[in-house]
Amino acid sequence: MSNYQLIIAEVLLQRTKAETVSTFFESFIISFPNWQSLATAHAEDIENYIRSIGLQTQRTKRLKSLAEEMVRRKGVLPKNRMELESLPFLGQYIANSIELLIFKQNKPLLDVNMARLLERYFRHRIRADIRYDPLLLDLSHELVNHTKAKFINWAVLDFAALVCKAGKPLCNQCILKLNCTYFNSHNNS
Ligand code: SF4
Repeated sequence: MSNYQLIIAEVLLQRTKAETVSTFFESFIISFPNWQSLATAHAEDIENYIRSIGLQTQRTKRLKSLAEEMVRRKGVLPKNRMELESLPFLGQYIANSIELLIFKQNKPLLDVNMARLLERYFRHRIRADIRYDPLLLDLSHELVNHTKAKFINWAVLDFAALVCKAGKPLCNQCILKLNCTYFNSHNNS
């Protein structure tokens, strides 16, 4: 996957299920194979693809702004973190994802799933927004501070989705239960 495709995938996946994005991602990339084609595309043509994920007008505008900025930058991503986060559509999560997958840095894909697992296993966040919670930021960075950071991220996200589920975690089958705060507090009460 090219850097362009990777960033577009991350942008489309924001608040959208992977199954939904996968239904049109390939044809989207065929129609808009690079930043230039996306920057010069008609808004209606982009909306035709992303209608299924809602907010098409907002997302189209932001996608086009990002593409225009990347054309201005000749496709080169800034390595400076603040500059990276300031690109249209790129917040903390996508910036981490770019640093992890493109710049090969040990960065966490801290989303609600990783946050849930960390909070259950260790303790609750201090701030409502996971992006600014010092505990979750520290724990997530520590977790993936490894040469296999990419695979650890993916493993944690899969584990959170399959075992430490949002609704009812499968604690009895969980290999982490002995030292898990959530498990111990629920089994001692
Ligand atoms: S024991 Fe339960 S709450 Fe703790 S990590 Fe495992 S599944 Fe999640």
